[in-house]
Amino acid sequence: MTNGLNVAVLGATGAVGAEILALLEERRFPVKTLKLLASPRSAGTHLTFGGETLGVEALNDTAFRGIDLVLASAGGSVSQQWLPKAVAAGAIAIDNSSAFRMDPNVPLIVPEVNPEAAQAHQGLIANPNCTTILMALAIWPLHQVQPVQRLVVATYQSASGAGARAMEEVKQQARAILAGEDPVAEAFPLAFNLFPHNSELNELGYCQEEMKMVNETRKIFSAPGLRISATCVRVPVLRAHSEAINVEFDRPFAVSEAKQRLIEAPGIKVVEDWGRNYFPMPMEASGQDEVLVGRIRQDISNPNALELWLSGDQIRKGAALNAVQIAELLTIPTPVAV
Ligand code: NAP
Repeated sequence: MTNGLNVAVLGATGAVGAEILALLEERRFPVKTLKLLASPRSAGTHLTFGGETLGVEALNDTAFRGIDLVLASAGGSVSQQWLPKAVAAGAIAIDNSSAFRMDPNVPLIVPEVNPEAAQAHQGLIANPNCTTILMALAIWPLHQVQPVQRLVVATYQSASGAGARAMEEVKQQARAILAGEDPVAEAFPLAFNLFPHNSELNELGYCQEEMKMVNETRKIFSAPGLRISATCVRVPVLRAHSEAINVEFDRPFAVSEAKQRLIEAPGIKVVEDWGRNYFPMPMEASGQDEVLVGRIRQDISNPNALELWLSGDQIRKGAALNAVQIAELLTIPTPVAV
């Protein structure tokens, strides 16, 4: 680590933080120094990066001194409290939480969709919600050909979307059930079950996760009137979210053209073998950068609509990869090497 940026990863011990560290290394991001930040619970533990063992520090008042870039994934309340301090100390912060996503002064970026918005940042940039990123990536190439009028989406969200501990909990629940014991559910009862999303419901009956898909997609697409309805469900899958999406246009959209546009789109891999009944699966999407899209077909109930199915690694493209790609878009002055 010689030339490059002074980077802090806030939430380094979490599911997203671990993936950020792996991606910084894998993509040879220009890291000069790296600071690993987490809660006091993890202070003194160690992680490796670039062959070096680094200590994890508890977040504190001087943590952002001399830092150029903060990649944050420690939850909304931590971001709310600490990222304005990081920006005041001179850093650019890219946040994985929902704390600032709908702030009109904070760009909300999917690099394949609206990279230009990153240039207008005032120190803070928000990474969208994971299900929103996956959907935006698949719908944007079609929206470029014919503006989308309406999206109806059902999500199938993995346990790890709720963090490293939720993923461990579903394994423990499965072991307990198979051993004939009562499973313990601190996060949610997910093993051998489906769980309608556990975030707060609004007066219309939509949960926060569903409204994030509505509001964030509109912001990313600069399409405030886009009609979207979402149903979000947690499924007993360890990693990678899936989505069934109905996409309505103002006139018919040929399936062949939709498939071709998605084949050409960055960040997408079309996975369809109709003869073998082979389509995207979360197990195969896990660990991949690309979002897998398939079952692209005509909606038999509406001549102006298509149906498609996707699976994407929500820790990777839905969080860490998207955040690192945003950082790669920025022209941050690198400190002079001595
Ligand atoms: P996680 O596995 O539970 O990790 C949370 C991280 O935040 C840990 O490093 C934890 O440190 C740290 N942390 C918690 N409280 C803290 C505090 N008071 N001060 C400093 N650090 C603190 O969660 P995650 O899944 O990585 O999610 C992190 C964020 O990314 C959340 O906002 C989440 O909504 C968002 N996100 C997650 C996903 C996903 O698929 N998991 C996708 C998109 C966005 P300790 O280890 O010390 O507790």
